[in-house]
This record gives sequence, structure tokens and C-alpha cells, in this order.
Amino acid sequence: MKPFLELRDVYRTYEVGESTVQALRGVSLTVEQGEFIAIMGPSGSGKSSLLQILGLLDNPDRGDYYLFGHDVSKLSDDEQAGLRNNVAGFVFQQFHLLKRMSIVENVRLPHIYSGLNGNFREEAVRRLALVGLEQRVDHTPNQLSGGEQQRVAIARALVRDPLIIFADEPTGNLDTKNSAEIMKILKGLNGEGKTIIMVTHENEIAAYADRVISMRDGRIVSDERRGHKAAAVAAMTESDFNSMMRGKVVVWKDARFTGFMAQAFQAILANKMRSFLSMLGILVGVASVIAMLALGEGAKASMQEQLKSMGSNMLSIRGGSSMFHGAAQGSGAVARFTFKDVDDITKLSSMVKHADGNIGGNVRVVYENKNWSTSINGVGYDYGIMRSTIPAIGRWFTLEEIHSREKVAIVGVTVIRELFGNTNPIGKIIKVNRINFKVIGVAPPKGFSGPRDEDDVVMVPVTTAMYRVLGKDYLSGIFVEVSNPALMQDAKSTIDALIRKNHHLKDDDDSFNIRDMTEIQQMLTSTTQTMSLLLGSIAAISLVVGGIGIMNIMLVSVTERTREIGLRKSLGARKRDIMLQFLVESVSMTISGGIIGILIGIGMSLLLSYFAGWAVQTSIYSILLASVFSVVTGLFFGLWPARKAAELKPVEALRYE
Ligand code: ADP
Ligand code: MG
Repeated sequence: MKPFLELRDVYRTYEVGESTVQALRGVSLTVEQGEFIAIMGPSGSGKSSLLQILGLLDNPDRGDYYLFGHDVSKLSDDEQAGLRNNVAGFVFQQFHLLKRMSIVENVRLPHIYSGLNGNFREEAVRRLALVGLEQRVDHTPNQLSGGEQQRVAIARALVRDPLIIFADEPTGNLDTKNSAEIMKILKGLNGEGKTIIMVTHENEIAAYADRVISMRDGRIVSDERRGHKAAAVAAMTESDFNSMMRGKVVVWKDARFTGFMAQAFQAILANKMRSFLSMLGILVGVASVIAMLALGEGAKASMQEQLKSMGSNMLSIRGGSSMFHGAAQGSGAVARFTFKDVDDITKLSSMVKHADGNIGGNVRVVYENKNWSTSINGVGYDYGIMRSTIPAIGRWFTLEEIHSREKVAIVGVTVIRELFGNTNPIGKIIKVNRINFKVIGVAPPKGFSGPRDEDDVVMVPVTTAMYRVLGKDYLSGIFVEVSNPALMQDAKSTIDALIRKNHHLKDDDDSFNIRDMTEIQQMLTSTTQTMSLLLGSIAAISLVVGGIGIMNIMLVSVTERTREIGLRKSLGARKRDIMLQFLVESVSMTISGGIIGILIGIGMSLLLSYFAGWAVQTSIYSILLASVFSVVTGLFFGLWPARKAAELKPVEALRYE
């Protein structure tokens, strides 16, 4: 029959800087099921090293280790983790309980790594009852005495029903009374058939064992049987062994994932201030992404709205080389249009529906004791239809009024609010640059076009504006409505030629320009897009900075919790499990930051639109983008710390101070 455990000529050497320490120098040992073994010897003789190799927490440099006849020292880290979870229970001198969790959660911990489904609280409580702690299940380790903590550790070692219990100086930190109690529990477990391998340097403790192995300088110097071993519990089949080694691989559906979620939040809450501060970067980044994009979208939408209300077959003829760059880039000359130009354009009746000359400028308007600076817009009769500015309150100008330079005005709502408050403006007399005008209508509200308030305007007949208010004898622009969108290009070139002829301009003279609305629209759109992109990249940079903050804190967290990682590994956590745990933690942090950021971003956009009057539009798209970005940030910047944690060796991590 194959022995239960067998070591053959095992060596273990530690390298510390330049020097090497030979902790084990050729140890051979067989253990039968049901034995209770005490390993004794002076400090530094290699007892712990031997126990760690037997418990698969460490591997020999030379020699073989057979478990149920399988050579296990060559298995991968994860296969060894699977075996530890299924066959071994560990009890350490320092208890190694996780302080953040209640004791029942501590006891339940090995189950997270078993791949089995279920709650397992019941089972954990049952194990706690075995060690007499069923009344304390929801206490935290700090509320327990040392002896009680060690009993919790024993309950934890038992929860997966292991065949072997490895105990390294289990009573080393306890007084005599507690030691005796712990030993009674271990003895009882041995009586039920569990194999126990225990390291101790005290004779009273070793007296509980039925076999005592003494070590000195990395070798076994004596091996004596003192009693009869207990009956073996169970035989192990080949397929049992294989399934223990591999474990189950489902991750998302089993208790593991929900366990990780809960633990991630526990870890985040345990360091509230620190977590909040490291979330702050993500939060600010996400909030600014949302607000900036909302601003960009809002500007774009209101501009498009504006342009749509102007009609898609409009042409705008203005002096200067370009509507957006002014005359600065051209010859500097600015064409001045006349009513003859307007008439000639109107006569192109096959392609032109309306044409209207207009002029603009800045004026001061006064009503009673209130005054206001605004812009004046001198318009012709057709302007009302072409630009949908015919008042709903009051009326439009008559042809007669336009002809005879009447002093009548149609006023935008912003001006009305500033001058009249709540009184009815129709029929009132206002002064425009000290000239009396009668208000005959209220212009339909248009809202903002980008930063410009389209309702901050006074409209008067174009002739009145030219000759009475602004003192000019020319038009600054002409609006043309083309009868059919298909004729836009034709109309443009015909009008271009016509104006050049009227004003004796050469072909390359750029003192005026003709633009159609789609062109204007494209220009505006690309401008706002560039702006959004710029704002967006600033926000993205702050997201990256936020991510680095998260990475930093995760690295600190990994270092701080090195012993916790070691413990989890000894309980059977695979690399993947440790990685997942830290990734879930960093992603939870970035997601929480992201969600708060989204809310703050939306709030900021609302405030901007409310107080600054800016058009904003929060899109689902930007919220989605921000969410995806914060998850990706968490994954990306959490990956390195998580890998670092996952690669730790169980023994080294457990020893970490
Ligand atoms: P014991 O448990 O019998 O006191 P150990 O097995 O812990 O002895 O250690 C045996 C020797 O190996 C000691 O000299 C110890 O200093 C050394 N040693 C143990 N672990 C390490 C390690 N991780 N790195 C370096 N030296 C170690
Ligand atoms: Mg030791």
C-alpha cells in the first residue's frame, strides 16, 4: 500500500543576500493516516521549514514529496492551492485571523476558494460550536482573547473537513490553561481520525502526540512512537485526488465572486478616507468629462436649432473676406451693398424667392429711467418671413413704414425684460440712441446661439436704421432665400457675378462673401467638435491621473495586506482568486468614483445652464463613455498591483512583517 505522506531525502536552502541557510539537509519521513505527530527541536533546526513543505506551502529544492502516492512537489502553484484547500487545515502560532471580518466570516473563508456553491454560514457556526465559540460568531477577532482566537483558527482549519491538520507552535502564544484547551481539541480531532502534524518545542505539548520526531540542524535525529495511532478516516481514490487538485473553475457563478465583492467593499470601507481620496481623481475626471461634453453638445444643439430656423436654402452675403475670420486675412476692403443689389437679386426670379438687405450695429435703448445696451437690426419687409421673426404679440412692419423710415420697433424678449419688466411694451415709446421709437411688437424668442443671446435685439425698418440711427447709406448684408435647394450653387455663382459687376470688382477680389447655411453649419459643427475634443482630452488626462492614484493606493494596499494574501493562499486561494480580489477592489473604487462623478457632472451642467444661462445637453453617450472609462481605468491600473499580489509565495507572504 502507498504511504499517506512520504518525503524522500528533502533539502531546502534559503538564500539571504550573499549567504545561504541550509534549513533542511536530507529529510526522509513517512506518515500514516491517523497519526498525531509532534516535531520537536531547538529554534532554527528546520521544524517550520519541514512543516511548510509537508503542507505544500513551500517546495523542496531537492528530493521528492509523495501525497497518496502522487509526486506533488512538482505540481503548479494553483494545483497545490487546490490540494491545500481540500486536504489540509493550518493552525499558526500567530492565529492569522483577518481583523476586518467577524469570526464566522473568518471561519467561512476557505469555502470561498473551494469553488462550491452555498452560504456555508451554518457550517462555519457548527465548527465554531465544536471549539465552544457558538455564542461569539459575530464578534471580530479583536474582541477575543488569544486562546479564543486560536480556537477560531482551528474552526477555520476544520471547515473544509481536511484529512490533515498542520499546526506550527499552535500554543506558542498562549498561557498554560488555554494551551491545554487547544491541545484537548486537537487530541479530540485526532481521535476522530484526522492526521495531525504539529511543531512544538514544549515537552508538555508534545506529550499529547503519539509520535515525536526530533530535529537538529536540518536533520531528523530521532523518531519515536509513544502510543497507538487513531483509525484512518477515509481512503482516497485517484479521481478524488484529481478533482481536489484541479478544483472547480467556474468563477462568476459561485460563491467566490459575491464573496470578493463583499470583501472589496469591506476593504474600501475599512479605509474610508483613503479610498475616498484616491477615488477623487476619477471623480473629478468623470465629472468634468460629463460637464464638458454636455457643454459642447449643448452649444452644438442650440447652434443647429438656430441654423434650422434660418432655413436650409438661405444664402448670407456679407462684406469682408470671411464670416469667421473677418477681413483680416484679405485685402482689407469690405464691400458695401446697396438697395440696387437687393433689387437685382430679387429680379433673378427663376432661382430667388426673397432677398432682404439689412444692417446691424450697437445702440443704447432707454425706457423711462431704465437703459440697456443692445444691438439694432435694420431689416426689410421679407426678413420677417425668411427668418420667422413675425411677432405673435403685436405686428410686423408694413411696407409703408419701411419706405418712409418710420420710427417703429420690434423688441426682443431680453430687452423687454430689462426695460419693461412685467408691463406691456406694445404702444410704449422707447429711445434708441436718443430717438423716440414706438414699440409695435415682441420678437419671437430665439434663445442662445452659442454664447450670443438672439433675443437681445431691437429690430427697426432697415431705412430707419441706416439714415436715422446709424447714419450710414449702405447695407451690411443681404439675406437671400433660394427657391429650391437644388439651385443653391447656381444661385451662389449668379449672385456672385452680379455683385462683382455692380461693384466693378475683379474675380479675385475678396471684399465680400456668400455662404450657404450648410457651410456655416459645418463650420460651426467642426468648431464645436474641436472644442469638445479639447475639453474632453483635458478631462481624460485627469482620468489617467486619477487612475495612477488608484494604482498607487492599490500597491500600498497589497503591501499592507501581504500577510492576508499569504493566509488566503494557505487556505487555497489560487493566483486568479487573489488577482480577482484586488481587481474587484480597484474597479469598485473607480466605479464608485465614476458614479459620484457622473452625478456631480450632471449637477454641474444643470448649474451652468441655470446660473450662466449656457445651453447644456447631457447625453447618454457621455455617461456611457464615462462609465466604461472608469471601469477600464480600474482594470488597467489595478492589474499591476493585483498581479504583484497574486505572484506572492505563500510562506514568504505569511512571514512578511
Ligand atoms: P524552526 O521552525 O525550527 O525554528 P525554521 O524552519 O523556521 O526553524 O528555520 C530554519 C532555518 O532557516 C533558520 O536558520 C532560519 O533562520 C532559516 N530560514 C527560515 N525561513 C527562512 C527564509 N524565508 N529566509 C531565510 N532564512 C530562513
Ligand atoms: Mg518555527
